[in-house]
Amino acid sequence: MGLITEAKNGRLTEEMKQVAKDEDVEPEFVRRGIASGRIVIPVSPYRRTKPCGIGKGLCTKVNASIGTSSDIVDMEMEIKKAKVAEKTGADTLMELSTGGDFYEIRRRVIDSTELSVGSVPLYQAFIEAIRRYGSAVDMKEDELFRITAEQAKLGTNFMAIHTGINLLTVERLKKQGRFGGLCSRGGAFMTAWMLHNEKENPLFSEFDYLLEIMKEHEVTLSMGNGMRAGAIHDSTDRAQIQELIINSELSDRSHEAGVQTMVEGPGHIPIDEIETNVKLMKRLSGEKPFYMLGPLVTDIAPGYDHIVAAIGASLSSAYGADFICYVTPAEHLALPNVEDVRQGVITARIAAHIGDMIKNDDRQSDLEMGRARRDLKWEKMFELAIDPEQARAVRDSRSPEDEEACTMCGNYCALKIVKQSFNFER
Ligand code: SF4
Repeated sequence: MGLITEAKNGRLTEEMKQVAKDEDVEPEFVRRGIASGRIVIPVSPYRRTKPCGIGKGLCTKVNASIGTSSDIVDMEMEIKKAKVAEKTGADTLMELSTGGDFYEIRRRVIDSTELSVGSVPLYQAFIEAIRRYGSAVDMKEDELFRITAEQAKLGTNFMAIHTGINLLTVERLKKQGRFGGLCSRGGAFMTAWMLHNEKENPLFSEFDYLLEIMKEHEVTLSMGNGMRAGAIHDSTDRAQIQELIINSELSDRSHEAGVQTMVEGPGHIPIDEIETNVKLMKRLSGEKPFYMLGPLVTDIAPGYDHIVAAIGASLSSAYGADFICYVTPAEHLALPNVEDVRQGVITARIAAHIGDMIKNDDRQSDLEMGRARRDLKWEKMFELAIDPEQARAVRDSRSPEDEEACTMCGNYCALKIVKQSFNFER
């Protein structure tokens, strides 16, 4: 029996109790959130995972996406990326391989982590079609559903599925045009498939069948944002909003069918459109958990896109986004390596916390850090830091003569001078 049914029947499951404990909220709050669709806990009947609650009233969660590409297939590196993401504090992983043996890579990644793992079945379906028939547009619809069920049976907890692209959305896209096209691989593949075959997206036309698969394997549905703009100049356009409306309608059907559901948001948008995007999505979808992909708030900082996305993600989270996908320094440049993943997770966690300070008034650790700084308690500062290893390494690399201060001001440490004259203890 799925979590929605359990929640609607008034039963508290172990996952609900654990999420309530981790978030310091009442179990009943989590149960009601799941019953109403405002909270999801991606689970799998095929393996035990660390329960991760995503949704209204909970802290913002961070996803780290990993996976091979057609150019670089290094299974050991993917396992290292999965492990470093988990160690650095990612809440979930998405395994998005597009090269090598899909089954083997996903199985090994899933075996290597306690985190919930997500996937995009469309990638595998299209790439297998290219390998088998020579072209993605020759993908067979039943193969897409078969692959979806197979990935679920491996223990996949959630899937990004491009349900909201239909002939109407594509028509809007054609009419309006775009500067930067599409940045969603699934969206690009599916659009090409629909135009070539002059057919409706099977994930839209066979939505009830898709829900049967999701329900049978207890997969959480993450409604993909295939029309998201790949350039700031195309943000919040008609095609994107069309897809959001369709996904919002489908998200109601999905929840009614007992399938936990999230809705995904855009990838490239300027700062002044973030609030609108988050509030519009929340309003249209009836407060379903919102999974924001970044967003990138400028297009001109390749190499630093983890920082650009952290700025967007902190605002998204503050306005109500529940789940953010990290971006690494390699975004739009190369397949991320292990260090890119580490930096991506840390910067996304910083963004999530900045948002939670506003959204959930989560400021206790900042208060404690302020006191530790005032009192020059270095060990306490490291303990409270989001990345203690980095903080310690920087201080140790330039050790001060006076152990109390640091080498920035040395003998003239303002905090030390003030401490001698005032008692600021609060
Ligand atoms: S030396 Fe300057 S920067 Fe370092 S702790 Fe003191 S006041 Fe802060």
